[in-house]
Amino acid sequence: MSESQALCILSGGQDSTACAAIACQQYDRVHAITFDYGQRHAIELESAKAIALALQLASHEIIQLGPILKGTSPLVSNTPLGQYNSTEELPGGVEPTFIPGRNILFLTIAANRAAVLGIQDIFMGVCEADFAGYYDCRQVFVDAMAVAIGEGVWGDPRAFTIHTPLMQLTKAESVNLAMKVLGDRFEAIFELTHTCYAGVKGGCGKCHACLIRDRGFTVAGVTDPIWKFRTKS
Ligand SMILES: [Zn+2]
Repeated sequence: MSESQALCILSGGQDSTACAAIACQQYDRVHAITFDYGQRHAIELESAKAIALALQLASHEIIQLGPILKGTSPLVSNTPLGQYNSTEELPGGVEPTFIPGRNILFLTIAANRAAVLGIQDIFMGVCEADFAGYYDCRQVFVDAMAVAIGEGVWGDPRAFTIHTPLMQLTKAESVNLAMKVLGDRFEAIFELTHTCYAGVKGGCGKCHACLIRDRGFTVAGVTDPIWKFRTKS
């Protein structure tokens, strides 16, 4: 019997890391791709490399996209990054950090790599619960993309399955799931993850991404392994 294989889109953040760990439980060989799109928090690329090694993934490719993704998002422009004191201050709606078409592009390239590797199963760490209003983190989008890439690559709408195991989970539930999946490796793996949009190791504690991550760990009653790196302001 041939080995089962999956491809994971690994950003280096907590959700894609949890997804990669889940994929490792279910498949013999897990490959990962990470996108360098000139993001402000390029430090996450180093996290992704370290996580791929720690999880002993079958392969890890960092794909250089250059400045192909444009927009007013502070992640890819000089627009200042929003800073907040608590999750109550978050404006709601679509976060200014939204980058139009980002996950469309990521999944399109993932379809190419999956086809080349002979893989049908793609993992992605998107979730609706804390999705910052990003339209391309919703299940309806993922379902539509699965059909589109299947049709476009193999002429079959069911050729690819896009797995989104965190889709309906809150951040706290995701933390608990990651702990369960990783067991005694949780701390060692999660201290490698990077979430902060400002690119601050250990998290700035003020950006949208940090606040949502911090709240998730706090609600879960778990000490985030990255907090030990955080410098007090
Ligand atoms: Zn931050």
